[in-house]
Amino acid sequence: MNWDEFSDWGSKIAAWAADYHKTMRDRPVRAQTVPGEIAARLPMAPPEAGEAMDDIMADFESIVLPGMTNWQHPRFFAYFPANAAPPSMLAEMLVTTIAAQCMLWQTSPAATEMEGVMVDWLRQAMELPDGMTGVIQDSASSATLSAVLTMRERATGYTGNRHGLSGKGALRVYCSDQVHSSIDRACWVAGIGQDNLVKLPGRGPRYSMDADDLRAAIKADLAAGHVPAGVIAITGGTGIGACDQLGDVLKVAQEFDLYTHLDAAWAGAAMICPEFRADFWADVEGYDSIVFNPHKWLGAQFDCSVQFLRDATPQLNTLKIEPEYLKTTGAEVVNYSEWTIPLGRRFRALKLWFLIRAYGLEGLRTRLRNHVLWAGEVCEAIRALDGFEIVTEPILSLFSFRAPGDDAAQQALVDALNADGRIYITQGAFGGQKIIRFQVGQFDSTREDAMSAVPVIQEIWAKISKG
Ligand code: PLP
Repeated sequence: MNWDEFSDWGSKIAAWAADYHKTMRDRPVRAQTVPGEIAARLPMAPPEAGEAMDDIMADFESIVLPGMTNWQHPRFFAYFPANAAPPSMLAEMLVTTIAAQCMLWQTSPAATEMEGVMVDWLRQAMELPDGMTGVIQDSASSATLSAVLTMRERATGYTGNRHGLSGKGALRVYCSDQVHSSIDRACWVAGIGQDNLVKLPGRGPRYSMDADDLRAAIKADLAAGHVPAGVIAITGGTGIGACDQLGDVLKVAQEFDLYTHLDAAWAGAAMICPEFRADFWADVEGYDSIVFNPHKWLGAQFDCSVQFLRDATPQLNTLKIEPEYLKTTGAEVVNYSEWTIPLGRRFRALKLWFLIRAYGLEGLRTRLRNHVLWAGEVCEAIRALDGFEIVTEPILSLFSFRAPGDDAAQQALVDALNADGRIYITQGAFGGQKIIRFQVGQFDSTREDAMSAVPVIQEIWAKISKG
């Protein structure tokens, strides 16, 4: 392909992209395909000779597109959103075009410096303290793993990387039973082990771990000769949106000098709204590490996960490695690959710059507030449906419900709704039962999109409950 052909195809694909989004509401949300169907339509072996772009694009439309779940559909109410506001998509096109590998300041001065500034813009937007720094990672899972490794190294006097963990006792990490599985996985990978991740029951209206439970667990572990390493709190757990009482949890962690990490991967976006900060974010400034994903609810194209750090030194002491081939000369600079596990890094800050400039914080806040408001309205409408119950009340824009009947009936409703395609929702578990989660958060969702879910749920339920 020469650059004139590239330009021609670039224009065609940009037009295709706009049309795809403009016609989104006519498409099913979840892919209407069965396992193996798409692979069966792809050639078993690669072509020896190059093929025409017209043919490749035609196959993309006929083979690939029907096999894609449309995450940018305004009636996507499943999981959490992975938004892609148009300006952030355009930024990604530029990033793809320049295709820089941003591991060091030297390999990407503008990307490195913009990353520092974007982390600071978000720090200000979320009213985190002056002096807090941070880094952009690919995912909350990576940020949490970095924090758990830091907990491990700090608790072992920074000897784990060098000598291994043998003879260092059982390193213990504490959290509530509402955390995302990325916390479990971080403990597996860090060599801490599932059995040493102590999960305390979520209690109260927002299912927080209890400070007395936490203190008692740490004391019991110390008495047993274990080594407490850190505490992981959540603002907005995946299942039902659980939120820890940040101040209470922090106070206990500080009593025992434990490193603290806060997972706000989803709900963090809403903390650009002052009214949610007052309610959900009090005492956040004391946390050593905080992760939130602008690629979820805020609108930055996947992937983009910001990890704020009160002091970057413990994480750098844990992750920084500097072989000769990565050394640079000259003035002191930030090399963000020293803050993270992967060496190679994409230019993720650019999409934040485009996104925040194009909408302004106020434009983004309006969307978040609307989602919270509409989720509340959908919740009330579902509560009013005959036999339906709200299991967990809205926390920000997420609530859960049950239709009449047992767990199998809940799954049958979810499956039938997703096969219908007009909306997309997913199940979860709470209190030993299956629940149906519902969140509003897709960037282009309107009140009409959100409310349209209620008659669809009613209609599909009527159909399946008749057998
Ligand atoms: N934490 C929470 C609360 C989440 O909901 C999720 C994913 O949905 C994650 C962490 C993991 O995020 P990522 O896919 O960025 O690793």
